[in-house]
Amino acid sequence: MTIISDTLSLIGNTPLVRLAGPSADTGCDILAKCEYANPGASVKDRAALYIVNDAEDKGLIAPGGTIVEGTAGNTGIGLALVANAKGYKTIIVMPETQSREKMDTLRALGAELVLVPAAAYSNPGHFVHTSRRIAEETEGAVWANQFDNIANRKAHILGTAEEIWEQTGGKIDGFICAAGTGGTIAGVGLGLKAKNEDIVIGLADPHGAALYEYYAHGELKAEGSSVAEGIGQGRITANLEGAPIDTQFRISDEEGLEQVHRLLEEEGLCLGLSSGINVAGAVALARQMGPGHTIVTILCDTGFRYLSTLYNAEWLESKGLTVPASLKDGSSR
Ligand code: PMP
Repeated sequence: MTIISDTLSLIGNTPLVRLAGPSADTGCDILAKCEYANPGASVKDRAALYIVNDAEDKGLIAPGGTIVEGTAGNTGIGLALVANAKGYKTIIVMPETQSREKMDTLRALGAELVLVPAAAYSNPGHFVHTSRRIAEETEGAVWANQFDNIANRKAHILGTAEEIWEQTGGKIDGFICAAGTGGTIAGVGLGLKAKNEDIVIGLADPHGAALYEYYAHGELKAEGSSVAEGIGQGRITANLEGAPIDTQFRISDEEGLEQVHRLLEEEGLCLGLSSGINVAGAVALARQMGPGHTIVTILCDTGFRYLSTLYNAEWLESKGLTVPASLKDGSSR
């Protein structure tokens, strides 16, 4: 049988690809899970499906009901796809600083989009608190609550980690990625440690996030800022509680962008910045562990979601970031 019986079964079972450049640079096998190959083009389809299934199992949503969520965009896209396939509506609250492509995608999928100004988590207007309030005030609505709903990390314990273990045949020495909700790193970390507790779990933390300091020195402390969307956490979410993190690296936007542009030019992969930060983290972990190791990371979402930002010379310049030769005026590309 090669026919898949329902579209939601297209979520997960993503390919694992060897990245030639980063592997050659380090003498390790750097392998990447192609999460952009999910139907919504990001790693968050997995969490969206588990969260909705969990709400159904708990009787929290009835046919025709509404799913409300605060998101940097990708979880909203995943939820909108899952909701359409199951007959629910979605209301998605998003900071207005996120890419225009994600907003257009959400509208195209039929989500009701609520944009709010970027604000600190302590501010009641923060997108997460706004989404909770809307869920409380809307009849027949459920709040997905991806940050503190551990159905999110279950998707990675039972899905992503299991797949990585099978795809590598258990030949894996390290795993590393960045954290937004923390669902991916905690779920994959817990899942892989249950198979082999010697697998090293690394965190790649962008500037402006507080987790590097927390795992290094026990204190939640942020420094600087990042333009990466979907990652950069300032607190220990329920999904991050008990995450088995062994080592941590702080990765700059420039380091991540260098990988993003290199992966495009040398390997034909068009990715978002969190993927670049993950690959830069994998290279850092490979250098720490030494040659001959197998290290897995995540390619979180498609770069087509950032054509107006990461792949736009004017935008890169406006943020003080390096413009690659291929995007400069007069380039043949
Ligand atoms: N990269 C991107 C582009 C994302 O949207 C997200 C989700 N917020 C992540 C990485 C991080 O995933 P997680 O929420 O599982 O930590």
